[in-house]
Amino acid sequence: MIGAEVRRILLRCVRHRAGRLVTVVATAALAGLLAVPAGAAQATRTGGADAVGLAAAGSSCPWVTSTAPISQRVAQLMSHMSLNNEISMVEGHGTSNPYVFYTPAISSLCIPAFGLEDGPAGVADGLSGVTQLPAGVALAATWDPSLAQQYGQVIGAEEFGKGASANLGPTVNIDRDPRWGRSFEALSEDPFLNSALDVAEIGAVQGQGVMAQVKHFDAYNQETYRNTPADDVIVDNRALHEIYMPSFSAAVKQANAASVMCAYSMVNGNFSCNNSYLNNTVLRDEWNFPGFVTSDYAALHSTQGALEGTDMEQPFNTYYGNALKADIEKGTIPRSALNTMVQRILTQMFQYSLFSQPRTGSTSATVTTPADVAAATQVAEAGTTLLKNSGPVLPLPASNAGTIAVIGPSASPSPAYAGGGSAYVIPSGTVTPLAGIQAAAGSGTTVVYSQGLPTDTSLPAIPASDLSPAYSPTSSGGSYTGTLTAPETGTYVLALTNPCGCYTSTYLSLNGQHILDNPSTPPVHTYSAAVQLTAGQQYTLSISGQSSQLLWGTPSALAPGISAAVSAAKSASTALVVVSDDTESEATDRPSLNLPSAQDELIQAVAAANPNTVVVINAGAPVAMPWLSQVAAVVDAWYPGQTSGTSLASVLFGQTDPGGHLPVTFPASLSQVPASTTAQFPGNGSQVQYSEGIDVGYRWYDANNVTPLFPFGFGLSYTQFSFSNLQISPSTIDGTQDAQVTATITNTGPRAGSDVAQLYVGDPSASGEPPRRLAGFQRVDLAPGASAQVSFTITPQDMSWWDDSANGWSQTEGTYTVYVGDSSSLSGLPLQGTFTMAATPAARQVVITAPSTMQPGQAATVQVQLTASGDETLPDVQLALQLPEGWTAAPTGPTQFTAVAPGTAPTVTFQVTPPSYAPNASAVVHATATIGNMTREAGVTVTVS
Ligand code: BGC
Repeated sequence: MIGAEVRRILLRCVRHRAGRLVTVVATAALAGLLAVPAGAAQATRTGGADAVGLAAAGSSCPWVTSTAPISQRVAQLMSHMSLNNEISMVEGHGTSNPYVFYTPAISSLCIPAFGLEDGPAGVADGLSGVTQLPAGVALAATWDPSLAQQYGQVIGAEEFGKGASANLGPTVNIDRDPRWGRSFEALSEDPFLNSALDVAEIGAVQGQGVMAQVKHFDAYNQETYRNTPADDVIVDNRALHEIYMPSFSAAVKQANAASVMCAYSMVNGNFSCNNSYLNNTVLRDEWNFPGFVTSDYAALHSTQGALEGTDMEQPFNTYYGNALKADIEKGTIPRSALNTMVQRILTQMFQYSLFSQPRTGSTSATVTTPADVAAATQVAEAGTTLLKNSGPVLPLPASNAGTIAVIGPSASPSPAYAGGGSAYVIPSGTVTPLAGIQAAAGSGTTVVYSQGLPTDTSLPAIPASDLSPAYSPTSSGGSYTGTLTAPETGTYVLALTNPCGCYTSTYLSLNGQHILDNPSTPPVHTYSAAVQLTAGQQYTLSISGQSSQLLWGTPSALAPGISAAVSAAKSASTALVVVSDDTESEATDRPSLNLPSAQDELIQAVAAANPNTVVVINAGAPVAMPWLSQVAAVVDAWYPGQTSGTSLASVLFGQTDPGGHLPVTFPASLSQVPASTTAQFPGNGSQVQYSEGIDVGYRWYDANNVTPLFPFGFGLSYTQFSFSNLQISPSTIDGTQDAQVTATITNTGPRAGSDVAQLYVGDPSASGEPPRRLAGFQRVDLAPGASAQVSFTITPQDMSWWDDSANGWSQTEGTYTVYVGDSSSLSGLPLQGTFTMAATPAARQVVITAPSTMQPGQAATVQVQLTASGDETLPDVQLALQLPEGWTAAPTGPTQFTAVAPGTAPTVTFQVTPPSYAPNASAVVHATATIGNMTREAGVTVTVS
């Protein structure tokens, strides 16, 4: 209870977004955008800025029309910027701007306004006229980078149409625990899958002229205690590099994400936005990220962030407004730090042509298109995951399917299309599951509907006769405790409404146990849970935080609806129960995996009445399935976005094969999850121990021989597939070589269908890796009887592990096992083979040394070395530098080395010269060693002055 109390108090200061009115937004948008370059005319996405207008801007602001390299234009502009101008670029400007994150135009310098808008599943933050895409987890369930690309195109095009210059997404944090409230928004529990999808999505967003701000860096995997010192993640660098960082590294290195959002979590003692290890050592020095870092909403905790790698505070100016200005004037933070921040932001603004092609979109524009909605439907269909299908009861016949009884409030009056919080997108139109099924049912099929349970918002208040003292609404930070005397025995639904819109949880506890955490985020404000109560017994009900209503459904009040559903099921050929979890949201974690309301009871009652009971789940994360053995089929349709009913019906009636595969492990119960102790999740009130290390998700289940309810990667089809003919070549490699794998997949069933071929690598046990890690996948569509060859490349990086003692990547030689099949569990991996890594560079690292300051136009000496390690004589090593634009480097000796013996450390000295125009700012001098197909890298930050 102490933890809960601390949490309540600490969360009270979180933001309030309720006052966001669309009319205000629209006006402000125009004001902000028209303030862009004095006289500069508007441009379209495809180019053509008005020549006269730009010429006018060009005469007073030559950097607008200049064709000089971007670094030069940035330097030229910065030479005209005052301290106040620079502060205005890095501070937040409050919450009444057209975009959730915003910096206004500086018209005297022709600097345009800069709008950054959520989010990961479409344009969010209360704007309308947009497409509500399926949740990130649904996208991940497609295992299809080409769909991630389409998804990104929709996001980019719609953000562009709304006039936003950056999209706050995707959310690529690892799904460490199924209770995480934002699991739906993130992609998966596996870094390889995350990376492949985020690279495709980011590339497409940015292809539309909109920057992607990949979030949230790093180890942000729970909402409990968020943005407080109690969410201090204690995690080793190995787990960071192998599990929690690869999707960010792929985003910045492969997809060139323009921007990164630092997270609410603390990592090893420092808040992420004040974490120099994350933002300087890894992001800048190691990965050579040239873009800018923005704080999550109020996630910056001091002006020192300017030295700790955060370039922009949003949406407030608590630290980067007057406070940073004062520190710079006092000299406690050097001006070069601010210059660096501004330089990074401006570089991306030039890169995205914000100066020469002012954005003309508007927050009031309607940007959704039929093609965007169709793309959303396609992703939802492809992600729909079939978990069970006995009989098989699915697909339903296209015609003459008899009577289908559609059951459940989630099928019609309260469908769940999306999760809650900043990722929530207002749909431009919706198709409920019931409407979709009705529209798709063919001739000879009758669809009847029975709601089965009341919607949460229609439940009555708990009467004063059963609750003492009578409940009266609690204000923010308020509390209520009362005694409930159960009038009868059975399953009750308790519900709580939190209307504040404040992203601050209100907790409902029964006899001291949290049963509801309601954060008051859009779109759902009433949360419910089922509890078993005994007639005459007294229970303590307590509420902490703001709430306006405490509601319930007693067993006898629920009974008629359930009976009506049972009758409908009895006289139907198929009973289709649509259930949902509408309690998944930012700002809260789920207290359990149980479905809200009495949906479990509803399923059980219906399943007892009809053997052909199909359960459809709309949720963003695993849910408990106590009824699994009693039902014929289970379809996980995730949060499918606005065309939920259309995609669902297409799968149920077999127009689309349910080709989704689980991007997260479904545990049988919470006792199975990797972070099963309080110390691990949500922490003990001061730290959160990531003591499971790299054994996250399926890695943990495999390492501990635990059989989950459904394994990662699992998903059925309406047809069957077999795998054969595994080929691995070469059979012996050294650590710098790829291994090539091919296999044949055959559709052995009677219908066309799709499967996801997956390749897992099992490292030699001395590496300390879990039994298997995903290293390749390919979604395949096959006609009945058809075969295809799938091919995978296992790269040296796929066979590397992070060696904390060497502070870099390493490898273990020995036998590697290759597994191919269509799920992560051994039973789903029919093909197995091996290859041998006979020699390896092991923990050789690049070390770079440079002076801490350099002068513009003056050469300085930089040394790059590849350290000695391993047992392999390297045939060919290339040492190279990667420098900011305009910098030059001249090696003083050879950069290429042949036959490098294990004990030798090749070294190159370079003369490195910053350009004469380089501003007084920091820059990264970055080096790589290329050894066959392996690359090692390192960087060092130097200040030009
Ligand atoms: C969320 C971010 C979001 C930001 C702006 C924060 O609460 O964590 O993901 O981008 O708000 O809405």
